[in-house]
Amino acid sequence: MSGTKTVSKKCVSCKNTSEHVVWKEPHGPQIGTIFSRTKMLGMKKYYLICPVCSTVERELTREQVDAMKNN
Ligand SMILES: [Zn+2]
Repeated sequence: MSGTKTVSKKCVSCKNTSEHVVWKEPHGPQIGTIFSRTKMLGMKKYYLICPVCSTVERELTREQVDAMKNN
């Protein structure tokens, strides 16, 4: 998948250091007015998923995800 962000970190569950996948979880319906869609963007949640044991480790803030783009 192109555009999929990963973060190299140590898993708290299986202790493997691997490329964790950043998973976006949109909340609510994807349809509506421009105003409500803009609100939806702010409600997206991000998680890191371990590719070894599939543990969903934690929730990321939008700011943390944006910071990764600068790497
Ligand atoms: Zn793991």
